[in-house]
Amino acid sequence: MRQLLDEAAKGGYGVGAFNVNNMEQIQAIMEAAKETNSPVIIQASRGARSYSQDKYLYHLAAAELYPEIPLVMHLDHGNSFETCKSAIDLGFTSVMMDGSLMPDGKTPSSFDYNVSETRKVVEYAHPKGVTVEGEIGVLGGIEDGHGAGGSGLEHVTDPDQAVEFVKQTGLDALAIAIGTSHGAYKFTKKPDGSVLKMDVLIKIHKRLPTTHLVMHGSSSVPKDLQDVVNQYGGKLKPTWGVPVEEIQLGIRNGVRKVNVDTDNRLAITGAIRKVFAETPEKFDPRDYLKPAREAMKKVVAQRMMEFGQAGHAGDYKPIPLSEIAKQYRQPALV
Ligand SMILES: [Zn+2]
Repeated sequence: MRQLLDEAAKGGYGVGAFNVNNMEQIQAIMEAAKETNSPVIIQASRGARSYSQDKYLYHLAAAELYPEIPLVMHLDHGNSFETCKSAIDLGFTSVMMDGSLMPDGKTPSSFDYNVSETRKVVEYAHPKGVTVEGEIGVLGGIEDGHGAGGSGLEHVTDPDQAVEFVKQTGLDALAIAIGTSHGAYKFTKKPDGSVLKMDVLIKIHKRLPTTHLVMHGSSSVPKDLQDVVNQYGGKLKPTWGVPVEEIQLGIRNGVRKVNVDTDNRLAITGAIRKVFAETPEKFDPRDYLKPAREAMKKVVAQRMMEFGQAGHAGDYKPIPLSEIAKQYRQPALV
């Protein structure tokens, strides 16, 4: 992932990181990447790994079918060194160590704990060529059982702490808390500067111009996707996500990885509900999984174009992990 994000920084674009837990989601992402000629990050949370037995996911990401697409397998929200190590040992090429929370994935931790756990992961990962994302500040909401809840505004990232954290850990990518949260219910109205702290993001980028920033909880939760779900019997309450133009502002200010999950879940659920409602006589799973996969592919392809990664798959040759390891062998420790 380090190489992919370095290239994105050079090209001034962002890369979507899409969550998966089954085959159709992986296929949707890979087909969207092929269609738009995009480098791609597929990520699995701890919840996804346990749902799928992570070996399934690893083998489902059939990279040999897409030799032209640079592909990253990334662990989302690792809660401990052991979780990150198990993903690396399985073959993931990138991991997130989220030391902003204790290993229970819920309780905010201390700065010192976060530094020491993240640094431990960096020291294990870098010699193997594996990239490390860390997090400073605490994101709102809960996803797959992980998260502190709340709006996230209680723990917006402090720029001074972010600088210190990067220096002491030597990580590659930094997730920051700027008021976004996980899940579908992010904002009760279109977000403005009081809830979405783009000014903090810009400040952090000015202080850390060479650190790749990561936006979590960055689904846009578009109304048309909500409407399809509700039109066919769903019961989503009205909600707002992160507008694409705010993400694009982030990308102009150092954001290189953009995490998206909810939008794809909505697309899948809407498509399946539609088939069930309109043709209740059908019972072959392919009759609803195929349109579900198509619906997700459409959303992913659209995000790839909006984030600017479209067209960049062939810009560079992926470097083998052993070469990456040589280039990044020494974590930038103080
Ligand atoms: Zn997240």
